Amino acid sequence: MNDNDSADILVRNVSLLPSPDFSRFIPHGWLAVKSTRIIALGSGAPPPVSSARQMDGSGGMAMAGLVNAHIHAPMTLFRGLADDLPLKTWFEEFIFPAEKKWVNKEFVYWGTLLACAEMIRCGTTTFADGYFFEGEAARATVQSGMRALLAEGILDFPAPDSSSPEESFANIERFIERNSHSTLIRPTLFAHTAYTCSPALLKRCRQMADRYGVPLIIHLSETQSEIEEVYKKYGKRPVDHLENLGLFSSPLIACHCVWLTEEEMDLLARRKVRVVHNLESNLKLASGVAPVPELLSRGVVVGLGTDGCASNNNLDLFQEMDFVAKVHKVHRLDPTVMPAQAVLEMATLGGARVLGMEKEIGSLEVGKKADVIILDLNKPHLQPVYNIVSHLVYSATGADVRDVIIDGKVIMENRKLLTLDEEGILRKAMEWGKKVSTKAQPPNLK
Ligand SMILES: [Zn+2]
Repeated sequence: MNDNDSADILVRNVSLLPSPDFSRFIPHGWLAVKSTRIIALGSGAPPPVSSARQMDGSGGMAMAGLVNAHIHAPMTLFRGLADDLPLKTWFEEFIFPAEKKWVNKEFVYWGTLLACAEMIRCGTTTFADGYFFEGEAARATVQSGMRALLAEGILDFPAPDSSSPEESFANIERFIERNSHSTLIRPTLFAHTAYTCSPALLKRCRQMADRYGVPLIIHLSETQSEIEEVYKKYGKRPVDHLENLGLFSSPLIACHCVWLTEEEMDLLARRKVRVVHNLESNLKLASGVAPVPELLSRGVVVGLGTDGCASNNNLDLFQEMDFVAKVHKVHRLDPTVMPAQAVLEMATLGGARVLGMEKEIGSLEVGKKADVIILDLNKPHLQPVYNIVSHLVYSATGADVRDVIIDGKVIMENRKLLTLDEEGILRKAMEWGKKVSTKAQPPNLK
């Protein structure tokens, strides 16, 4: 960077964790942003550049924003509605009926705003959503200033925003076409599962995704009962079933992948299927522990997701990282499994790769989009620092995130949200809570 260069944002007095390899930690440095990109960073004091906005990063550490590779954003409005139930009961007796009754455009809009407010506060800068009325999710996301892959959902049954799969396909086409030129949003589609989507519907989803050049999202091999149900229906396990239908022929984002055989893992690696690990959701619904170390060792691209808020019950990826690093260790009785650096990589560049956005986001590097978060390290649980990556995975929480920049725009400063009316969103969330709780609460929780 030359002395006469100008920047739009200059962050000084900040420590930096450049990535993707996290091997370099700059204890005292600076970072310059111009338009939407990181244009320079370094140690010590910055060169005398003119800058429209100066930020004092004292006590803070800048790193790449986190990528939440699988959520159902509006389900924040169902948080805590039904807990401690098996997935099938939870879904069929509580979530499905509640969605049928309550999910409409307004629900999706306010639920997504609530999710964005929570994610920004926790240092997430990009997310991948799969739900219904995604046009409303897009409206809320653009308002928040977040980056997202938004996927309109489809299954064999009537959905909250359509009376038939035919209508869903029309909605998907409209949604993708309307949002294909957005800078922050990438529109796509989300086929629910191999047991709620017929083979013909899945094939048509693949064709539509290919026609628009977008990745297809699906829940895959999440529970043992899914494996049994698909086997009973089609005489194949879900992975073979999807392979047989040609779903792995182009980019597929497979969420969960808990129950996989060795051969299935080899196949996913060969077919370059991208996997999203949603550990907390899998723990809460007692679905199982996905064989992530085995997938990583085969070179499968893996990102982290929180899944929807009704099965987690928060969108804090820092908390998710802590679980991922620890649960895999105890699961194998081996503390060397899933080291902190591998987990942090999955939460940043891994997620970006899953979403097909790795050239633009996922690491703190000159030339990449300025999706940057600054954590406040001046806290009892974050000092002293021997290994910053260890602190990020094992000690930090989303509440330690102080400032958030997305696409070169300051979205949160000193924990104040600058793009969203947080009070108004919380008021609306409470209104929705009152409405939903009077009708849809499970009998055992009344
Ligand atoms: Zn999900």
